[in-house]
Amino acid sequence: MKMLVTLLADASEKARQNAASSKQELDKMQRELAELRTAFGELEKHALEDPLTGVANRRAFDQLFREHLFEAQSTEDNCCLLLVDIDEFKKFNDTHGHLVGDKVLRFVALMLKKMIKGRDLLARYGGEEFAIILPETDFDGGMSLARSIVASISKTRLIVGDNQQTLDPVTVSVGVSANLEGDVAETLFRRADKALYDAKHAGRNQVKGVMS
Ligand code: GH3
Ligand code: MG
Ligand code: MG
Repeated sequence: MKMLVTLLADASEKARQNAASSKQELDKMQRELAELRTAFGELEKHALEDPLTGVANRRAFDQLFREHLFEAQSTEDNCCLLLVDIDEFKKFNDTHGHLVGDKVLRFVALMLKKMIKGRDLLARYGGEEFAIILPETDFDGGMSLARSIVASISKTRLIVGDNQQTLDPVTVSVGVSANLEGDVAETLFRRADKALYDAKHAGRNQVKGVMS
């Protein structure tokens, strides 16, 4: 009988130890899972974010532009697209080097970020080109924001380097389009791109819109 009690006590102690180690294992697995989730979230974020400026990248833009436009078209709501291209950006790189060029890019991204709100989406679409999607905004609303953007950027002076050098004014050209019945991402984008081309050809540092 005594032996049986000892055996049972041993078995119970082993089970307790096993349970304790299982609990430890479980805690460890849960911690690892949480770490993996965070890492995956970060990866996902980086896959959609432009590392230089911190705004959405082209990939995010392509995805979200389609989604926003689809929503606007299905609810017969407005959706506006702005394409913002830095004027003669190459000059900043050539005169002051790529690091200053990068600063100019970050400066423009920051100015644009400050000027949008709510569900508006800012993305770095290409090298020195940004796109802004404005849900629930009509053509006039888009033109008006685009004019404010051009005015604010051109009047802000950027100071760089240890010697606090003031750069030549940074200016942007903006092309604006707004959704029409039957539009898909490509057609709306094409009109904004044509408008941007018009703004460049009209002398830069200005806004043009293509309505239809
Ligand atoms: P335009 O007024 O016609 O738009 O002229 P632009 O000089 O702005 O345009 P262009 O397309 O001739 O030059 C764009 C330059 O942008 C060329 C490329 O080397 C530079 N660029 C692209 N991405 C980056 C970047 O991440 N950092 C820096 N510093 N330069 C970049
Ligand atoms: Mg440019
Ligand atoms: Mg360009």
